[in-house]
Parts: sequence; structure tokens; C-alpha cells
Amino acid sequence: MPKRIVIVGGGAGGTITANLLARNLHYQLINGEVVINMITDTPNHVYQPGFLYVVFDKVRSDEIIRKQRDLLDSHVNLFVDAAEKIDRDNKVVITKGGKEFPYDYLVVATGSRIVPEEIPGLSEGGHWFYSLDGAKKLRDSLKDFDGGRVVISTGVPHKCPVAPLEITFMLYDYFKQKNMLDKVEIYYTYPINRLHALEPVSNWTIPQFESKGIKYEVLFNMEEVDPAKKVLKSMEGSELHYDLLITVPPHSGSKVIEDSGMGKKGWVATDKQTLNNAGYDNVYVVGDTTDIPISKAGSTAHFEADVVAERLSSQVLEGCASTRYDGKVVCFVETGFDEATYVWFNYKTPPRPTPPSKMLHWMKLGYNRLYWLSAKGVL
Ligand SMILES: Cc1cc2nc3c(=O)[nH]c(=O)nc-3n(C[C@H](O)[C@H](O)[C@H](O)COP(=O)(O)OP(=O)(O)OC[C@H]3O[C@@H](n4cnc5c(N)ncnc54)[C@H](O)[C@@H]3O)c2cc1C
Repeated sequence: MPKRIVIVGGGAGGTITANLLARNLHYQLINGEVVINMITDTPNHVYQPGFLYVVFDKVRSDEIIRKQRDLLDSHVNLFVDAAEKIDRDNKVVITKGGKEFPYDYLVVATGSRIVPEEIPGLSEGGHWFYSLDGAKKLRDSLKDFDGGRVVISTGVPHKCPVAPLEITFMLYDYFKQKNMLDKVEIYYTYPINRLHALEPVSNWTIPQFESKGIKYEVLFNMEEVDPAKKVLKSMEGSELHYDLLITVPPHSGSKVIEDSGMGKKGWVATDKQTLNNAGYDNVYVVGDTTDIPISKAGSTAHFEADVVAERLSSQVLEGCASTRYDGKVVCFVETGFDEATYVWFNYKTPPRPTPPSKMLHWMKLGYNRLYWLSAKGVL
């Protein structure tokens, strides 16, 4: 009987894990000693950081989408279906299509999703760039925008902690290029008592915002949008008039997680070093759906996938595993249209953003193109 590995979710984390496992377990796969099945609910793989560039007409949608099958090692079986129930006691995943996938080892990589419906009025009155459709709608509204107050507001929790800063800096350069800075007020809000979740990044941002005249308000948690009056209200009692509202809506994990009793709001209890689902040595968790205290980011998913693939391969081949995740995250942060900064941190070392440079911007653009090699497990 082969060892059966099931991976649920074929985004950044699931795909890198699958390809690294296929490499580490190549001979076992060819000899039929191991089977890897991936269940994911869409045939396409979308590079989400690309949405930011769609807003400013800097990439086309077809540049950030690939067929999932083309990214996977040919020895990984792909099933396009949605997991509806994960039964850890009986070690089986049941799909919407009615199939059952028994497993010896499970990797949960179902990511996170935006839930704008949690904020009344947001869908009618606001924009977001956290989906391809949303990014395109915002792009079209920006083209028609002739001035006024642009409010950028962020919900909790959310993936990619640097994206709200990036959109703000890029909007500044967008209006500068259009000679509209005198007609526009850029107003940034953040839910906690500083400009960013990571204190060094927040401290670094203050002078950047001040030199550009970007206004800000902290301790601002979106409560409700009044689309008729164009007002955004916060839980703290603030009311902000806007002419264009750009938000990062709050996020949840995938529905299957909550439906399977694996974690409230879809966040799975995960050991921050072994990446095992708490209490299950044969279940691993990768990417946004973990509950570990680190940024939800593609970079995080990538470094976690390296660890999970190593641990799982060792479990299959040697019966034990020792590699651990140290919380490593690396992000390039756009600080406009032609400069970027860079942050590197882990559980023990805080980030120290570097001065923005054109070189870092080109590195970010370069990585955007190389992502497909990352997904294939080559980088
Ligand atoms: C605008 C934007 C900018 C970003 N910029 C950056 C950046 O600069 N740097 C960075 O590191 N990160 C960035 N990110 C974040 C990054 O894209 C995510 O953190 C990363 O994709 C998480 O990987 P994941 O595998 O956990 O989830 P995902 O890549 O979202 O994959 C999850 C997959 O699981 C599937 N799935 C969900 N539920 C089920 C189910 N029940 N059955 C089957 N399949 C299911 C989904 O369809 C999806 O394909 C950005 C994100 C956005 C939106």
C-alpha cells in the first residue's frame, strides 16, 4: 500500500510544497511507494501580488495567471474540486464533487479570503484591490477620478501587511504623474495605534508619509460605510468623508476549516516551529491559514513550504523529522512607481527597512516574473 499524501489548496504554499515533495520523493513516486494528490478549487493559479500593478495598468491579467496543471510536477495528481470536509479522525478529505481522499499525511494550504460583507455598505461604497475583479474596478474608477479625498483603510486580519503602504505610495506617484497632487488629499487609516503592524516599519513610514503630505489616522477600525453620504465610520467613533474609498477588507480562512472544526474563522491551530496542526503529527499547515504570529504573506508560505516538504519527506523516508521554521519572511515593498524598500525578519529578529532605491524596485519587478519558478520549487 503506497503512502498517501493529500494537499488541500493549490496556491503559493500548496504548490511549492507539492513540487518540493515530488522532488524529494521522486523515486518513491515512480516506484508507486508514495502517491501525492492535490485538491484545489480552481484550475488557475493567480499571482496575487500582481493585483497591485493591475490597479495602475502596469500588468495585464494574463501575465499573473497560469494553469495550475502546468505549475505542478507531472507526478502530482491534480483534482479540481473543493474540499468540503476534512475528517482528521478517519484521515479522509471529502469533496464537493463527492469524492473521498484517504490520506496518511495531510497538508492544509487553503489560504485566506476577503470578507467585505462583514462591513455594512463596503461592497456598495468602497473599492479593494485584493481580488482581480476588485483591482480592475479600482483601475477604472481611478481613470474617472478628478480629485478629492482618497481614503485608504485596512481591516483585520489581512494578508500582505505591506500592501496598504504600497498602494498609498503608488497612489501618490500616480497623482503626481497626472499633475493632480494639488487636487487630491491622500488619507491613510490603520486599525492599531501606529501605521503598520511591525513597529520598525511604522517608524520608518512616518517621515515618508510626512514628506509627501500623506495624512493619517490610527486606531481606526472600519465599522460601516454610508455610500450615499460617502462617509466611512470607525468603531472608535470617527467619521471620514471620502471621494474615493480604497480598502483592504477583513479576511477569514477557507470555509472548510470552520466546517471541519479545525479552527474559528478558518485559522488552524499550528505549531509555530514544526508547522503541525496542534495534536496531529501527520497534518501540516502552510500559508495564510495558519494561526502563527507572523505576517500572512506569499514569502511566509514559501519558507513554510520548504520546512513542511523537508519534514514530511523525512517522516516518509526515515520515520522522523527535525527541520523547524524560524519565522523567516522577506518582502520587497514598493515605495512608489520606481523605488522600493526591503524587509527581512523572523521570530527573533525585527525588520529594518532599508532606504528606498531603484534597484530594490527592479528586484521586486524581477521577482514578480520569477514567481513561477518559485511555485515550481526551482527558486
Ligand atoms: C494585493 C496583494 C498583494 C500581495 N503582495 C504580496 C507581496 O508583495 N509579498 C508577499 O509575500 N505576499 C503578498 N501577498 C500575499 C500572498 O499572495 C498570500 O499570502 C499567499 O498567496 C498565501 O499563500 P497560500 O498558499 O496560503 O494561499 P493562496 O495562495 O491564497 O492559496 C490558497 C488556495 O486554496 C484554494 N482553496 C481554498 N479553499 C479550498 C477548498 N475548500 N478546497 C480546495 N481548495 C481551496 C484557493 O482557491 C487557493 O487556490 C499579496 C496579496 C495580495 C492580495
